[in-house]
Amino acid sequence: MSDRDGSANDLSRRVLGVELSSTVAMAQRAVALRARGREVLDFSVGEPDQDTPPAVTEAAIAALRDGRTRYAPAAGIPELRTAVASRYRKDFKVSFAPEEVAITTGGKQALYLACQALLDRGDEVILPTPHWPTFSEAVRLAGARPILVHAQEKDGFKITARMISKATSPRTKAVILNSPSNPTGAVLEPEALLVIGDMAQRRKFTILYDDTYARLSYGRTDTTTLQALRDSVGDRFVVLGTASKSYCMTGWRIGWLLGPRALVEACAILISHSTQCPATFAQVGAVEALTGPQKGVQDLVAEYRRRRDFLHGAVAQLPDVSCALPGGAFYLFPNLGRYLSTPIPTTVELAGRLLDEQGLAAVPGEGFGAPGYLRLSFARPMDELREGAGRLSAFLAQLRGE
Ligand code: PMP
Repeated sequence: MSDRDGSANDLSRRVLGVELSSTVAMAQRAVALRARGREVLDFSVGEPDQDTPPAVTEAAIAALRDGRTRYAPAAGIPELRTAVASRYRKDFKVSFAPEEVAITTGGKQALYLACQALLDRGDEVILPTPHWPTFSEAVRLAGARPILVHAQEKDGFKITARMISKATSPRTKAVILNSPSNPTGAVLEPEALLVIGDMAQRRKFTILYDDTYARLSYGRTDTTTLQALRDSVGDRFVVLGTASKSYCMTGWRIGWLLGPRALVEACAILISHSTQCPATFAQVGAVEALTGPQKGVQDLVAEYRRRRDFLHGAVAQLPDVSCALPGGAFYLFPNLGRYLSTPIPTTVELAGRLLDEQGLAAVPGEGFGAPGYLRLSFARPMDELREGAGRLSAFLAQLRGE
């Protein structure tokens, strides 16, 4: 207490315990280098390079002209809550009522609110790793403890029910599942999800299911499991989703949470005391994204499959590199552990040198709880991917002393 000076530099323990997201940190470094005139390829980005579909933008412009410029209800405009529910019914055959949907300021706020609404100090949340850094920080910000369970590259980073089972304790309040995963692209097997559901029911915890990349999957869309899970676990199942990636709407800040009414109402209370609502006209744009033609999403998946196949082919054949093939999302997560040495002991240093020497930005695995790996986003145009693969190859050749 004695070292408190009471000034606005004297930050709370809560905020001091949180780290800046490594993905944001690397993107900032790339931007700073560019500002100094360097030509940088940014593979650290977590957003599509394509523009928002014109019909969505037009709908938001029309909403602005129509005066949809006032506060919206804290749980979201009714049209969007309905649109989200019906999109999930169509795409994944899972049924939620509009009253079981809260609209949030991006998927990030959906996660933040779910953690604030559900977790108490002392609670444990099981988190498979490698993981998106915001999962662990959102759990910590709610005063709870993330319990990391490690998925292995040799298993394609697949999560098994056994891994989750071994980590449960009487303090387990929730499990966070992210399929397809950021950063590995691994897709959860339907059987594993159902067994974890049985476990949730027996051991009394909630499944927080982040499906941010579900529409960007390269395999067949699974349309039987989510409703089966919901039938078996009921109010223990919560979906956290977003318009950001599949509709190229990262800057619009529209996400959602699907779950029991009590949770949706609690989130609405938290929203009403913090952000009040995502921008009303942005919500109208999202209605168009979800209810209009979905061909844009299919085209996006086809394009990203092409990019994935190219970049995976190029990276997996580099000497002393192994790389799982992602089943979804737009990231490659190669293992560069064999390039670590006394002069470059960590992938943080390796990524720093890759940026400085080759002008290629990628996020070190440490940020995802996976030292030795690098996350490369392929949400970049093909010509950049070709150039970037060449730069990575040249950088590694130099490290091998060639
Ligand atoms: N979940 C995962 C796994 C993500 O990768 C992201 C974005 N990087 C989000 C949620 C949140 O995205 P947004 O806040 O833009 O909706």
